[in-house]
Amino acid sequence: MRRPILTANWKMQKITAEAEAFVRTLLPLVKSASGVEVVIAPPFTALERVGAALRGSEVALAAQNVNAEEEGAFTGEIAPRMLADLGCGYAIVGHSERRTLYGETNQDVAAKAAALLHHRIRPIVCVGESLQERESDRTFALISSQIDESLSALPRERAADLVVAYEPIWAIGTGRTATPEMAQEVHAMIREQLRGRFGEAGAGIRIQYGGSVKPENVRDLMDQADIDGALVGGASLDPESFAKIVHFDQQGGT
Ligand code: PEP
Repeated sequence: MRRPILTANWKMQKITAEAEAFVRTLLPLVKSASGVEVVIAPPFTALERVGAALRGSEVALAAQNVNAEEEGAFTGEIAPRMLADLGCGYAIVGHSERRTLYGETNQDVAAKAAALLHHRIRPIVCVGESLQERESDRTFALISSQIDESLSALPRERAADLVVAYEPIWAIGTGRTATPEMAQEVHAMIREQLRGRFGEAGAGIRIQYGGSVKPENVRDLMDQADIDGALVGGASLDPESFAKIVHFDQQGGT
């Protein structure tokens, strides 16, 4: 009942010509992927060009960040209305790189998610623990407070527009993936929390896994009951590799 969602997060990579070339190669490769949602999150500078290249396709456009303010004197920032203007259907908020490198708090993430929804952009809210937090058995408590606080401004009636991404920080860009069972354990905990917060609507919220997802491991991850998609960094930079992830059901599992 939850439509799988596969998101490419390019981070600070690809200039406009490279971004457009990626889309031209990707679209024919994912055309036959039915029943899944594909999302591309280029850097801000390539949003317009990628949006134009995606027009007429089923693939959605996402931003990697946003400012929660409507407009004003915020040099260098991008408002939700600007993203809506470029056709963004989604925006990633609270990515661990934003949290650790730029000091974003759960409260910032909550404000961004609410501001996005106001402009009919669906937030992909990221949560995840560090290696130190995992090794000191604090994963569940940490994720639980991240979910609680990052979703505090989200009204119950908008639950269907929310996507959550569980990304253990120690697995991002490291080649080290959580085992499917480890990921499922946290996803199941998040699911229970979403049910507690949003009632039955919580059962329909998609939870993506992120952290060194590749064509070789995506199938086993997607086979887990509460893993509804993937947020993909490194392996999303190449269209062939990302297309294989989109066609996860055709990849070999264990
Ligand atoms: C990410 O960018 O959110 C991510 C999970 O990166 P990678 O797939 O490279 O680990």
